[in-house]
Amino acid sequence: MPCGTCQHCCKHEWIIIDPAKGDVLELYDTTEIVNPINGQPAHALKHKDNGDCIYLSETGCTIHGRHPAICRAFDCRRFYLNMQSLPRAERRRQLKTIHRFQESFDIGKRMQDEFPV
Ligand code: SF4
Ligand code: SF4
Repeated sequence: MPCGTCQHCCKHEWIIIDPAKGDVLELYDTTEIVNPINGQPAHALKHKDNGDCIYLSETGCTIHGRHPAICRAFDCRRFYLNMQSLPRAERRRQLKTIHRFQESFDIGKRMQDEFPV
């Protein structure tokens, strides 16, 4: 994913640890949350006071290479395309109600225009 200087995913986002995808919970500094997507209890990377991921520095991710599965897998271009494939009413509902979906959708659209998958 050619993120460049965009750090949208590393700020104000709950990065949920997923053992089913190979994440080892004990390797990360986490907090217990309610998953905003499915309402289930989950462990997510802690945030700094400003909302940044605990592992984000001025120059980027400090645990690159062992960052959680969701960090490695997420592609905002595919997120945008998947959202576009939803029925319009459902897309509008999700963009309006789910935390940060609208911002990710807008960035994904820009990235897809510039670096299409
Ligand atoms: S929103 Fe897209 S470009 Fe920005 S950090 Fe996330 S994946 Fe990368
Ligand atoms: S672990 Fe690294 S890539 Fe993942 S959100 Fe934190 S700083 Fe970003």
